[in-house]
Amino acid sequence: MIKSLQKSFGQKCFSPEEAMQILNLPDEDLPDLLDTVYAIRKKYKGTTVGIQILTNARSGNCSQNCAYCAQSRDSEANINKYRLVPYEKLLHDGRLAQDQNLARHCIGLSGIRFSDKEINEFADYVKKLKKEVHTHICCSIGFLTLQQAQKLKDAGIDRINHNLNTGRNFYSSICTTHTYDERISNIRMLQSIGFEICCGGIIGLGESKTDVVDMLLEIKDLHPQSVPVNFLIPLEGTALADADTSHLSPEYCLKILCLARLLMPKSDIRCAAGREVYLKGWEKWMFYAVDSIFASGYLTAGGQSIEETVKLITDAGFQYKIEAV
Ligand code: SF4
Repeated sequence: MIKSLQKSFGQKCFSPEEAMQILNLPDEDLPDLLDTVYAIRKKYKGTTVGIQILTNARSGNCSQNCAYCAQSRDSEANINKYRLVPYEKLLHDGRLAQDQNLARHCIGLSGIRFSDKEINEFADYVKKLKKEVHTHICCSIGFLTLQQAQKLKDAGIDRINHNLNTGRNFYSSICTTHTYDERISNIRMLQSIGFEICCGGIIGLGESKTDVVDMLLEIKDLHPQSVPVNFLIPLEGTALADADTSHLSPEYCLKILCLARLLMPKSDIRCAAGREVYLKGWEKWMFYAVDSIFASGYLTAGGQSIEETVKLITDAGFQYKIEAV
């Protein structure tokens, strides 16, 4: 079954039913699935794994109510809140990415809309940073106007992260302050001016397998350069603090990562937040599908250090990637 499905994946047309078959595979078929996926990963991505680090450049005080997010207006999570980090923090992290030969420096800003003044201030930071550090920069920054997006592009941001987070039909269960279509419009606008796109989601929000398939098919249609797949880390003080994530077995998580690779063979497939929790001890198999991971933690949750992450990759028999800028 896996071999016959392989022909369909990566093509423009194939059905949600075919995708669902991957998530419903019996666990004993997982080794065959991993072998198939590894051949695809190797063809398009070799055996390297890129490492990203993340700077939370603006934290908390968001007007939105995303249920999983410690920075949302409804969250009571005990996090640091600040408007914009000092430039020196961005420079420190940028230099770290450069000195450690990491693939990419990701910069996240909480919030959904920004004033022109805020965008100008951030664009000035980015311009300065690009003069001092030669690392790819990806930025996660809510909804932008066309003019704001162009300003950030001119400043030197290469790629923008804007996740769909879950399936369309489940979206209103995790957020009611903006819509799924607003997210898609924002991504299309960014693509229209030449931004590369990073677009992924979060597994474990209470969604069904159908929602996971719907999300991945929507993401595939957007042709993103990278696809971060997060597994929910329920954070105290958030609406999903008590979320039941017991179904996030390593086998289920691996099937989702395999499906992402099969659907988007040429994209960076990134196992993002939660890998340390749900795939601990299974990393070697994770790398059969995934060619990208974070080190040094996430926006509001900790994670493995850069050194531990490099060791994880090399111990699994993969190389950690150095992208030329
Ligand atoms: S995910 Fe983004 S938009 Fe949603 S609450 Fe968090 S910071 Fe705001």
